[in-house]
Parts: sequence; structure tokens; C-alpha cells
Amino acid sequence: MDRDDLILVTGGGGFIGGHLVADLRRRGHRRIRSVDVKPVGDWYQAFPEVDNVQLDLREKDACRRAADGARFVFSFAADMGGMGFIETHKADCMLSVLIDTHLLLAARDCGVERFFYASSACVYAADKQDTTDVRPLRESDAYPAMPEDGYGWQKLFSERMCRHFAEDFGLATRVARYHNVYGPHGAFDGGREKAPAAICRKVIVARMRGEHEIEIWGDGAQTRTFTYVDDCVAGTQALMASDVAEPLNVGSDEVVTIDGLVDVVEEIAGVRLRRRYRADAPTGVRGRSSDNTLVRQKLGWAPSIPLARGMEATYRWIDDQIRKR
Ligand code: NAD
Repeated sequence: MDRDDLILVTGGGGFIGGHLVADLRRRGHRRIRSVDVKPVGDWYQAFPEVDNVQLDLREKDACRRAADGARFVFSFAADMGGMGFIETHKADCMLSVLIDTHLLLAARDCGVERFFYASSACVYAADKQDTTDVRPLRESDAYPAMPEDGYGWQKLFSERMCRHFAEDFGLATRVARYHNVYGPHGAFDGGREKAPAAICRKVIVARMRGEHEIEIWGDGAQTRTFTYVDDCVAGTQALMASDVAEPLNVGSDEVVTIDGLVDVVEEIAGVRLRRRYRADAPTGVRGRSSDNTLVRQKLGWAPSIPLARGMEATYRWIDDQIRKR
């Protein structure tokens, strides 16, 4: 990517999109268009020298406007959130197919050279994630398909659409399957937050109020891996620059239980709290980790930022935000 190429980032007002725009600026890119449905004042990060545009990308014309003149597209816009959101908004999640379809068409028609799509570990088949004793997920584990209801099916469909746009229309596409990305400048309350941010918030609020207990969704034994956003952005850039057309995992393989994640946050906060487990809360799959064999082989890269380090930065940022309120 030349520094004067026009780069479109959709969902630029969101968590990962905002970090990607920041990274492109650091790399010296001068022409960035960042698009989001939210008013610019509500974006997690907005930079004055970037062309910040508010558009609803479910609309075909909006996608044409966004893609006009762009050489590269990073597609992050989606109606999504953590388990609390995707388990209760399956139709909303699936409607993101309008964004992906119209944006791919606009990219094809505007002569975009390369298109990055943010897919998810939620495309992986449910029966490969039903135990806490995880076998890391390989890219081939997405088939035979039985992804996460709603959100996962939409992501899998759009992944395939990327593949067929490449095969049939010659639009070069790159697809990352992100695994639980966390970090500063993202949702930590309001219903769309994910476990790392939610746990930070609960611990911070309990500490401030002098309470001794927090609520945990599930029994705390479910296993996960969490990818710090700097690793996510590095993997995204490496994949976009590569010649790898097939989907690749961009995810940490440092496995932790939800209880283990709470331990990490308590350590940072310097508190110990009682845990009230809510069995009826949305929890998603029982266990999940990323197999990074293929991404290492193809990109010579894999996430490396330890959970404790990433959570420290995340906790500090959320603590600041809550104090400012
Ligand atoms: P986010 O919700 O912070 O960002 C998505 C952005 O898209 C939001 O700012 C939202 O306003 C915007 N958007 C929604 N509908 C839109 C529309 N109609 N038109 C324009 N903009 C619209 O989420 P994120 O965590 O930054 O995720 C970015 C991408 O990565 C998403 O596609 C998501 O599915 C994918 N992903 C994220 C994770 C993760 O753990 N964060 C994991 C897997 C995949």
C-alpha cells in the first residue's frame, strides 16, 4: 500500500476499526476514509486529518460513496457485540449481510484492488467446541458447517462471498478469523461488551462502591483465548499485505478459563471478590482456542502479547473512562 493510496476503513468508529486507522496513520498513510453509522462524536477514536464519514452501509448507495476512489478496503462494519448481544440479536447480526454484500459489490464496481474482511472464530462448528479441554481450532474446522447461530452463519456466508468475488470477479480478498479481541477504546458497558471488558468493569465498579461480590456468566470453567488488539492489528496488516486468499486465524492460543481471567483482573486491581455464578446467562461455546500452525506457516507470524499485559492496559483505560463519568 502506497502512502497516497486511498484506504477505506468501515466500522472505523468501532473498536478494531479505530485501532486500524490509528495504525495506518502511524505508518504514514495520508489518505484514509473512515466510515461508521454512528455520529463521529460517538466514535472510540477519531482523527482530524482522516476523512471521517457517517454512513449507513446497509444501503447500496452509501457503499458506493464509501468505496469511491478507494484502492484498499478494510471491512469491519457489523452490528455485533459480545455473547449477551449476539445470543439475543440473531436477526440483527444476520442483517450485516446487507453491509457485506453491498460493500463487496461497490468494491468490485469501483475497481478496488484488495478487500479485507473481518470474520470470526464464531464460524467454527459447534461440535468442535463442546468441552473445556479444547483442541485448538484449525481453519478447516469451519466445515462441515454448524457455526454460532445468527452471527456465525452471517460471517461464514460473507467469507464465502469474498471467496467467490475473488474467483468470479477478480477482486482480491483477504479474510481473518478473529478470536475474542480485547483492548482499550472499545465497548465496556451497554450490552455489546465482551468478557474481558465486562469483567474489568465489574471489578472496577465493585471496588469503587466497596462491594465484595461480582456476577460471573456461566460456571467460570469455560475456556477461551483472548487476543490483544495490537496483535489483531498486526495480523490484519500482515494478512492484507500477503498473497493468502484463504481465511486465516488471527487469535491468541493462550488458553484461560473465565475464572482465570477474573484472577488476572483481580491481580491488576489488587482485590479479591466473591463470585456469584449465573448459570442462565449467555455463555457461548464451552471451550475455544486458536490453532496457529497455518498462520505461522503462511505469514511467519502469530499473536504474542501475553494476556496479563493486554489486560493491564485494558483495565487502566476502562478505569479512566469510569472515573471520568
Ligand atoms: P465494534 O462494534 O466496535 O465495531 C463495529 C462498527 O461497525 C461499529 O462502530 C458500528 O457502529 C459499525 N456499524 C454497524 N452497523 C453499521 C452500518 N450499517 N454502517 C456503518 N457502520 C456500521 O466491533 P469490533 O469489535 O471493532 O469488530 C469489528 C469487526 O471485527 C466486526 O466485523 C466483527 O464482527 C469482527 N470481529 C470482532 C471480534 C472481537 O472480538 N472484537 C471477534 C471476531 C470478529
